[in-house]
Amino acid sequence: MNPRERALVDLFAAMEGLAGPAFECTYYPCHFDGQDCSICYCPFYPCLLYRLGGEIIVSSDGRYVWSCRNCHWIHEKENVEEVLAYFSAFPRQLLVEADWSFFTKSLQEILFGEEIGFENGRAYDLTPANIQGFECEPLAEGEFLDVTIENFSITSVKRLSNPEEAEGVIIPEKSGRNLIGYLDGFVKCRF
Ligand code: SF4
Repeated sequence: MNPRERALVDLFAAMEGLAGPAFECTYYPCHFDGQDCSICYCPFYPCLLYRLGGEIIVSSDGRYVWSCRNCHWIHEKENVEEVLAYFSAFPRQLLVEADWSFFTKSLQEILFGEEIGFENGRAYDLTPANIQGFECEPLAEGEFLDVTIENFSITSVKRLSNPEEAEGVIIPEKSGRNLIGYLDGFVKCRF
């Protein structure tokens, strides 16, 4: 079973009843004591939303991956319940066939009540969902990330300074507690 299939299996199993903490798991607690393990493999992966604790890292074999090591969000019971309530409105076959775009829109609706990312030329711009509510200041120049996702995996990450050149998913670049991104000009936001 690949990670995407496992994420759907976890989601559908959680719809039948929450698992709670998996004390019997060798890796428990992989995030925090008392975590809810109902959704072990996340259906939103790779969400590309730094605010939830994830970030892009380079794996030992040189690939860009979205690391969820510091995400607690999907393991907090009230969030799991909200996710399950949201997806229970959809036929399971639709969820099986849905692409990454469907899942990012779903996550934005859960987090913000609406989709706040937008089509930007040939790219999809997730900058608003990454910086909403954070304190931002304008920057004279900078670079953001253009992330290509295929089959729920990151296949390339480019640093760009012109949004018109982007073709994948536009997100800010993270540096410590700062996000550098482009939204009507470069901004630096603290989160
Ligand atoms: S950061 Fe959290 S919500 Fe995002 S893909 Fe990872 S586990 Fe899922």
